[in-house]
Amino acid sequence: MNYDRILIRYGELSTKGRNRKIFVDKLRKTIQKALVHFPNTKIEAKRERMYVLLNGESPEEIIPLLKNIFGIQSFSPAMKLEREIDTIKEAALNMVSSIYNEGDTFKISARRADKSFSLDTGEINYLFGSHLLKNIPGLKVDVKNPVINVQIEVRSEAVYLSCENIAGAGGLPAGTSGKAMLMLSGGLDSPVAGYLTMKRGLELEGVHFFSPPFTSERAKQKVIDLSSKLANMNGGHFVLHIVPFTEIQQLIHKQIPENYTMTATRRLMLRITDELSKRQEALAIVTGESLGQVASQTLESMHAINDVTNTPILRPLIAVDKTDIIDIAKNIETHDISIRPYEDCCTVFVPSSPKTKPKKEKVQYYESFVDFEPMIKEAVEKTETIILKRDIILNSADTMDSLF
Ligand code: ATP
Ligand code: MG
Repeated sequence: MNYDRILIRYGELSTKGRNRKIFVDKLRKTIQKALVHFPNTKIEAKRERMYVLLNGESPEEIIPLLKNIFGIQSFSPAMKLEREIDTIKEAALNMVSSIYNEGDTFKISARRADKSFSLDTGEINYLFGSHLLKNIPGLKVDVKNPVINVQIEVRSEAVYLSCENIAGAGGLPAGTSGKAMLMLSGGLDSPVAGYLTMKRGLELEGVHFFSPPFTSERAKQKVIDLSSKLANMNGGHFVLHIVPFTEIQQLIHKQIPENYTMTATRRLMLRITDELSKRQEALAIVTGESLGQVASQTLESMHAINDVTNTPILRPLIAVDKTDIIDIAKNIETHDISIRPYEDCCTVFVPSSPKTKPKKEKVQYYESFVDFEPMIKEAVEKTETIILKRDIILNSADTMDSLF
């Protein structure tokens, strides 16, 4: 079929009033970045909808990319036609014939944004419907659940014709809700937490705590691979900060009673993430915590851990069951990476019986014998930053400027 454009319908952003322009602009930029390998495409952004003009590029290759972009409710490969009855008749017949299989049902869904058009929606449905029935033997009408839904949209400048309505990723365009830091382990939960918050328009940067030689290069690679997946959803790039955490973990194990090491470890991770978030001008921290899943995720634990910062901690999985988290992980293709068996820094140092109900005052008291501040500073200074672009890795922080 000779589609010449893809019509994009906005999701929730249509309701955003004055901010609408910002939302539409962000969405346009995200789509532009995603289509960088299709240089002939052009984007026409309008208040109501957007068009990707194909100019000869293949819709089959572009459709999978659009499916991953937040802020798109649905989209349809389409043709722009003159507002001429015969032209529309011929194009509709060609379009339906090219996808028709014996016995398929159809309906015409007419929309008339421009009321000055000579036919009303009932007349459009009737006229083009009967033309198709006359010319395609075996074709049947089903207005409730048709196999082929021929959409004819009459606008003031032209008529748009399409047959397919493809579901978009929903949510809000990347970056429209601001920036947050995602605490990214190699596990199943944190990438899913990242996906859900990105879907609500957050731009995320990842923070991973790495404890060589107790955790291997393979464990680090796992987090890099997860980050590449997240880059596809984060508007095409993902910044990952890898924090050297060995010395701090060793000190915790020397100085803090064993059943409190897990609580102290989490508190220090949070303090460092908070420092990085200030440096990167982020306004919140996202974690993959889920209530009651493990010892560090009881209410008492979260209370004792949260004590070190006032920065909002977003926990999108707090009330989500593990089985549902696994389903999302499979959908977003992070599951198989997450289940690779390489150890995480927390698993290596995990105490045999961590406190499930730690007391904030106790952990504060134990920590008071050690000055962690210089070590936190050093860890932040020695943090390695990697930028992952859709399927490509750039090294070091100097490339960052060119991206923003
Ligand atoms: P996940 O599946 O995300 O690893 P989990 O169920 O294993 O989560 P925990 O190990 O208690 O749970 O970790 C809780 C959260 O703390 C993680 O979801 C993540 O946000 C953060 N976290 C844990 N370990 C690390 C790490 N090494 N680096 C960065 N963040 C971490
Ligand atoms: Mg984990």
